[in-house]
Amino acid sequence: MMDKKTAVAAGTMLPVMEAFYTIQGEGTFSGHPAYFIRLGGCDVGCVWCDVKDSWEAEKWPVLTIQDIVAEAKQYPCRKVVITGGEPLMYDMNPLTALLKQEGFTTHIETSGAHPFSGDFDWVCFSPKKFKAPHPSIYEVANELKVVIFHQSDFEFAEKHASQVNEACNLLLQPEWSKAKIFTNEIITYAKLHPNWNISLQTHKFMNIP
Ligand code: SF4
Repeated sequence: MMDKKTAVAAGTMLPVMEAFYTIQGEGTFSGHPAYFIRLGGCDVGCVWCDVKDSWEAEKWPVLTIQDIVAEAKQYPCRKVVITGGEPLMYDMNPLTALLKQEGFTTHIETSGAHPFSGDFDWVCFSPKKFKAPHPSIYEVANELKVVIFHQSDFEFAEKHASQVNEACNLLLQPEWSKAKIFTNEIITYAKLHPNWNISLQTHKFMNIP
């Protein structure tokens, strides 16, 4: 039998910080019920990260993908969002294959900082200044979601927009603590550059996880 470390490297066991059934609050699928699987481990280091607890993978229980999927099946929804942490630190192929086999549609939220893996129906790519994305993400991204925390983030957003595939939905999202400052700027920016749409963290308005 494989030890845990080897199983994590193979993507057949994964550190799970939490898993919960909620409403997707952000992005293209905002308002959709979804089961979230938050994997532990992230090496990106965003200063404004609101899940810093996720950074150390070792803090979280390592579960088999069979157990992870069995838990997801307890809920009525067949849409799963894999988030983190940074889920692409792990090979997403085994987990997404099993989820698909059980009839789930699969979404991922990633900074793209590691090589892309997995069979996903929706890829939300949210690049961060703190660690450059791996080139493999640009072709597969369905949604480019740029968090606006500073004025220079608009230029950062355009830099990544010029590299994603043509079908990719372009989204600007004010960082929650700066929402008062940047929401108006984002509205003005989107009206001037209508290839961009706006994403808000509606789950924070609704007070749900
Ligand atoms: Fe936090 Fe996500 Fe940034 Fe990692 S990539 S530091 S989890 S916001």
